[in-house]
Amino acid sequence: MDKYDLVVIGSGAGLNILNTGLQMNMKCALIEDTKIGGTCLTRGCIPSKVLVHPADLIREAQHASKVGIQLDVKKIDWDLIAKRMWSQIDESKKMEKGLSTVPNLTLYRGIGEFTGEYEMKVKLNDGSGYSEPFSGENIVLASGARTLIPPIEGIEDVGYITNRSFFGDKFPKQPWKSLIIIGGGVIAAEFAHIFSAFGTDVTIVEMLPRIVATEEPEISAFLEQNFKKYMNVLVNFKATKSEKKDKIKVVTIEHMKTGEKKEVKGEEILVAAGRRSNADLLKVENTGVETDERGWIKTNKYLETNKKSIWCIGDANGLYQFRHKANYESELCTNNMFGPEEQRKSVDYSSVPWAIFSYPQVGHVGMTQAEAIEKGYEIFVAMKNYSTVAKGFAMGFEQGDEDDGFVKLIVDKSYKILGAHVVGPNAAVLVQPFVYLMNSGYSCVLPEYSEAADIPKIDRSCPEGGSFMPIYNSMVIHPSLNEVTGWAIGSLRPVNIKMEHHH
Ligand SMILES: Cc1cc2nc3c(=O)[nH]c(=O)nc-3n(C[C@H](O)[C@H](O)[C@H](O)COP(=O)(O)OP(=O)(O)OC[C@H]3O[C@@H](n4cnc5c(N)ncnc54)[C@H](O)[C@@H]3O)c2cc1C
Repeated sequence: MDKYDLVVIGSGAGLNILNTGLQMNMKCALIEDTKIGGTCLTRGCIPSKVLVHPADLIREAQHASKVGIQLDVKKIDWDLIAKRMWSQIDESKKMEKGLSTVPNLTLYRGIGEFTGEYEMKVKLNDGSGYSEPFSGENIVLASGARTLIPPIEGIEDVGYITNRSFFGDKFPKQPWKSLIIIGGGVIAAEFAHIFSAFGTDVTIVEMLPRIVATEEPEISAFLEQNFKKYMNVLVNFKATKSEKKDKIKVVTIEHMKTGEKKEVKGEEILVAAGRRSNADLLKVENTGVETDERGWIKTNKYLETNKKSIWCIGDANGLYQFRHKANYESELCTNNMFGPEEQRKSVDYSSVPWAIFSYPQVGHVGMTQAEAIEKGYEIFVAMKNYSTVAKGFAMGFEQGDEDDGFVKLIVDKSYKILGAHVVGPNAAVLVQPFVYLMNSGYSCVLPEYSEAADIPKIDRSCPEGGSFMPIYNSMVIHPSLNEVTGWAIGSLRPVNIKMEHHH
């Protein structure tokens, strides 16, 4: 049986850890059943944002009339938009080609499953059956998540799309005439924005009392009110049945409280009602890795599972399903796997940021008001509308306007920032400095220098206040322009400083 030093399942953030293993000359295996690059590159963040930006421009053009400029959108060049989107997804092919020639790496294309303690085999995509079994000394479960399909009668017969088939073989030749979106969370909100801007008649069906329920209630209400200018938003409704009538898909929806039934119609149905764990595909029970009641892989604060030398990062642990959080965990996991025991670092999720790239846009970091109170904090709250500042007015926002976005801050008694929430233009960019501030209160202890530890030097410094360390220690919302400034740090070069050389 082949024995690898490092086995990584999943080529999203898992690739970051694989790279380190390869640099350390380890014998490595990577298992991936879909496109190389994972969800973010091939069916998530990146292609969706290539569609969001043109949609934003359409809404901006409409908003321009508020400041005295009448703009007409003459044409939506769907072919060009699609071409630009595929150019990003197709980066995956280059990555696959590159990986296939890396020495010390075996790339398995198919679904990996555990067959025993630290042992696996792969059901190969080429239809040739299973690979030979193999084992791993260290195993990283970076297996992500997939779309949760709620139990809706007839849905499999009628057909539907998910983010995976949308950024795959179901990508439409033209925007649909009408679209039913089941779910009202982050992914649903972004797709609703994209398609409503491109002229599709969109209906959102959400069973909770509000859309984007992860956000402050005021933000959910603001988004719902603004969305309703461009689409139908039905909250408190659960989709129960789906059928096809004269080529049109019809979904029966039922009110969560009154039981009232209605029908909504669309050319297509997009299911975006949450994500589910891939641990079932991996058959983690065969190696004794524990999952929680919803199937997410359980990890400790060092990102280890309950089994020694089996680690888990990213969406697979069910927490904060964002790519920058998966990257953050991959860095920490790399440190904890390959570095010396005494330099292990534990995860800190107190300042995980994210954005919802809808129109209006939402930026979020830290706790909501309700979460802070629930955790026992005594808090202050601050709110400020865009219209109250000169630039906000200049951008066309006036007091009382339906689209006059706002900032909401939650701070504790000692003025420590607990959460920051923004809804309106550039929300992702506006919220990012709060992420940096929330990471600025670190106390710096220099770890003992160790020959074995291949930790970047920046981490082994104790700079003074005012340094870039809060930025370095923070997650940067992906994909956002904050990455340009945040990642500039990665290109630091000495100008007139003599560097010491460590191994
Ligand atoms: C439509 C959409 C938009 C999004 N937009 C954003 C955004 O703007 N910003 C953001 O930060 N996040 C966004 N996300 C979330 C982001 O894509 C994920 O958080 C991130 O990709 C998770 O990375 P990961 O490495 O944990 O898993 P993934 O990137 O999902 O990688 C895991 C890989 O493992 C494979 N796999 C799973 N099980 C097995 C197995 N048994 N054998 C072989 N292979 C297996 C999967 O097929 C997958 O390719 C979006 C997601 C979606 C769906």
